[in-house]
Amino acid sequence: MSDLIHGLTAVEASELRRRSAAAKDVAYCPYSNFRVGCALLCEDGTWVIGANIENASYPVTICAERTALVKAITEGKKKFRAIGVSTDITPPASPCGMCRQFIREFADLGTPIFMYDKDGEYVVRTLEQLLPMSFGPENLHPPSKLPGHSGNK
Ligand SMILES: [Zn+2]
Repeated sequence: MSDLIHGLTAVEASELRRRSAAAKDVAYCPYSNFRVGCALLCEDGTWVIGANIENASYPVTICAERTALVKAITEGKKKFRAIGVSTDITPPASPCGMCRQFIREFADLGTPIFMYDKDGEYVVRTLEQLLPMSFGPENLHPPSKLPGHSGNK
């Protein structure tokens, strides 16, 4: 077990980095030229990627993390083992506040978020470390009552 990297095998960790970086290639960011790629390792072992999609009306822009998550959720994937975020800067960028809250809706607090710099070097933090004392779905309803959640009973 000691060879796991925050719960990922070496192959999975390598794939997370590769797919996060590759996702930058599909970013639509003509205004900022700040490419962000995101890769999700879903609980079923499949992958979903996203990239930032900007808009001429700047606030309409959507980040790579939310792009990936909305793709995943609409494909029926609701549990994630790891999240990777890649940019072209050093040190690595971290998810914005809005994305941290968005991730909080669908990921466990212990989910590792790997943040890669331009060379693929990374910093990893759990969701709870990035968003301490957070507000989530269970604060509104018991988990078994949430639409789309099967609950643990
Ligand atoms: Zn964001």
